[in-house]
Amino acid sequence: MALHIVDHPVLHDILARLRDRTTPCDEFRILTYRISLLLVAEATRDIPTETGTVETPLGSAEAKRIGARVVAVPVLRAGLGMLEAFLDLVPSAHVGYFGLERDETTAIARRYYEKVPKNLDQSVVFLLDPMLATGGSATHAVDGLRGMGARGVRLVSIVAAPEGAAYLQAAAPDVEIFTAALDQRLDERKYIVPGLGDFGDRLYGT
Ligand code: URA
Repeated sequence: MALHIVDHPVLHDILARLRDRTTPCDEFRILTYRISLLLVAEATRDIPTETGTVETPLGSAEAKRIGARVVAVPVLRAGLGMLEAFLDLVPSAHVGYFGLERDETTAIARRYYEKVPKNLDQSVVFLLDPMLATGGSATHAVDGLRGMGARGVRLVSIVAAPEGAAYLQAAAPDVEIFTAALDQRLDERKYIVPGLGDFGDRLYGT
């Protein structure tokens, strides 16, 4: 498994504002959109392209276009905050949904909803989940996608815990993780420290 910690000054600036406990929900949403643009740009850096031509007002130019079937699967609910950025960069992407919820006492993930496009074996599949904490939800989702034929899933997250990255690495060595930060640790409630709190609550003002 490859862990890509995306390093960019604009991304660090956005992350600092996402972490800030005083950032209100409306700003948090916009920041999530912006940081997702940068992370998705990195996560899609090497997807296949097709070379053709395009006519400019002055002549003919070589043109590279996305040459792969791309599927984005946000994990409900927090992953939804990253979807708009994904689709703005890859408008032709197909979208699936995984509803995962973690039991607040055991922190174990449970899948309560699933709607995913077919032909995952012929697609580049991106899982969108902003917080890689224990790795339980991500592993659950990756297992589900693999069961439907996906190969080489890419996880786009905003903050990761070392415990979650290691857990996912052990369970699914071929998964590639793209994240803005690898934080210190998990606390006793399995929240990422220092992290940014409960992502879904901050995104939706719950
Ligand atoms: N989910 C969150 O929203 N935040 C964490 O810190 C861990 C999991």
